[in-house]
Amino acid sequence: MGIFDWLSQSAKKLKDVENKISTDSQDILEVYQRNVVLEKEIAQRTEELRLANQTLLTLEQVWDMMNSSRPLSSVLETIVSSLYGEFGYIYSFIAQKQYSESGTYYALKTYLENDFAQQLTALNGSGIFDFKLYPPETGVIKYAIQNKEVGYFISLKEFIEENIKDANEEKIEEIVKNNIVKTIIIIPITVKNQFYGFLSVFSPRKELKDDELSFLNLFSRQIELAITIANLFETVKKQAVTDHLTNLFNRRFFEDALQREATRSLRTKQPFCLIGLDLDHLKRINDTYGHSMGDKAISAIATVISNTARSVDIPSRYGGEEFFIILPGIDARGGLIAAERIRSSIESHKIEGLDEGITASLGVSCFIEQTSNIDELFEMCDKAMYSSKQKGRNQVTLADCENLTSWQDIAIDAFVDILTKHRIPFNKDLAQELITKLEIKQQDENGISSQETLYNIVDTISRSYFPLYQDGSTKGKVQLATLIAKRLNLSSSDLDKLKISMLLYDIGNTMMPKEIMKKAAPLNNTEREEINKHPLVAAREILKPISSVSNIIPIIEQHHENWDGTGYPNQKKGNEIPLISQIILIVDSYFAMISYRPYRKAYTVEEAITEINSNVNKKYSPELVEAFGYAIEEFKKM
Ligand code: GH3
Ligand code: MG
Repeated sequence: MGIFDWLSQSAKKLKDVENKISTDSQDILEVYQRNVVLEKEIAQRTEELRLANQTLLTLEQVWDMMNSSRPLSSVLETIVSSLYGEFGYIYSFIAQKQYSESGTYYALKTYLENDFAQQLTALNGSGIFDFKLYPPETGVIKYAIQNKEVGYFISLKEFIEENIKDANEEKIEEIVKNNIVKTIIIIPITVKNQFYGFLSVFSPRKELKDDELSFLNLFSRQIELAITIANLFETVKKQAVTDHLTNLFNRRFFEDALQREATRSLRTKQPFCLIGLDLDHLKRINDTYGHSMGDKAISAIATVISNTARSVDIPSRYGGEEFFIILPGIDARGGLIAAERIRSSIESHKIEGLDEGITASLGVSCFIEQTSNIDELFEMCDKAMYSSKQKGRNQVTLADCENLTSWQDIAIDAFVDILTKHRIPFNKDLAQELITKLEIKQQDENGISSQETLYNIVDTISRSYFPLYQDGSTKGKVQLATLIAKRLNLSSSDLDKLKISMLLYDIGNTMMPKEIMKKAAPLNNTEREEINKHPLVAAREILKPISSVSNIIPIIEQHHENWDGTGYPNQKKGNEIPLISQIILIVDSYFAMISYRPYRKAYTVEEAITEINSNVNKKYSPELVEAFGYAIEEFKKM
């Protein structure tokens, strides 16, 4: 069978599978709730799909992707890379329609990485993520989109002139001179009748034969399918509200519920209580009796919690062995009583096969009575729980509202100061916009999270000097760092310092020469030295005048010191380096690895973990790597 016959058969099979998937989406939702069943279902469908089409996208890939190790972009990357095969294309990318305040544009979503990509990227001296196609809706692209048809640029020059802003003339000459690209083909991509973007393929041939055209059409259908499945799974995942081991609500549901409860509470002026609970010594149970006994202990706790809960309460499994319960209408006194009841029921609960009893440490905080801000409520509860641990476990602690200045307040003040006093070079209008957002948060008593605002601010500032900055990664960094810190038993004041440092440790980069930050190639030695030294100096200068954060300056200064003394700036080693700095280093390295750079691919999560493990006793201490290993597993579930 010739390749094209085979391809058209595959197309038909793909269509069947796609139909099946979309009609079954409701089923999938229910199945997802019963996680185990779903896995079987997926395995079966994967098999069907594998048979239907052995070389094209498999559902398994998407399933992997939805299990967070493979983002959609990585699946698309695999698809786009396979274009290299038979047809010898020189380059290809998928561009996605984006909306911004200044209008719509097309941003590169997935692309092949090769010499040609580098040349193209260098045309306007930017990093590849900065490579946007403006104006989107003219000429060939407009034609292709409007007519839902394949469009062609008949020369590379035409493509560049029409789409790449501020391209450097000399560089255009250089890239066009090689004359390897003869045609650029634009294929619109539509997902569920919504226009998504387009696939662009750079061909070495002047003509496009019918066969090739049908291949490309099939190809774009495959991309559409991948995106459709990814969206479907994303929706299904979002709609799942319970945790499969315990049947309690999951973390996502809890977070939404907390927000809803705060809004209601402020409206009705009724308090509500938050109880946090962490199982004591679960690691020891796992180590002594095996992981399945650990699971049993977790389920037992969940049962006790469910049995003591009223119907209006919202009990949730927040993480591995950490639970939160929202008790509407209950004040602090009532919350303490409820928590004590849970604690003593757990203590007297027998687990079959376990010689010792299990216990838990609890914290209680109360909305309105103690604070009207949910971040604070959560933090206070978490700290109270932590303090129960430190006092010897198996007890309940009421949150302490004496020390109410939260780390968020300190961070907000610091950013307001930095932006209002122009301590960093930053667009004035944008700075004003950010200041306004922060000031609203400073007086915020409506229960809305100020953390999210802070994360956005740091993302915005970071992107302003570093176009490759992965949007949304600030939140992930703080979450991962917190998990590691808890594993290492940091005190709660150190935890606060760590969170503030996570937002500020790279602030000095705003003072770096833009050319260096935007450089697409690896840095040379001089540049590397410059980058190594200056951000730390700059951070010190920026932060020194702000007294509330002056205690984190030494932490920031040492966040590039390595455990074995090979780091910078002072080649400190071992325990000379503050633990908080060590945590920043490992989190920063991890996020750098999983991000794309023009000169290397993004590491997969697993590759990054392997790399970190290989640096034990070099960059990181064994304890830190151990804690990272634990935290990253928790983090993947978040
Ligand atoms: P502490 O009293 O300080 O809370 O000690 P701990 O051992 O309970 O806490 P630590 O945070 O040191 O370790 C938590 C352990 O819980 C390690 C992790 O492997 C285990 N764990 C987390 N989630 C699960 C799970 O779903 N099942 C099982 N069996 N173990 C889990
Ligand atoms: Mg525990």
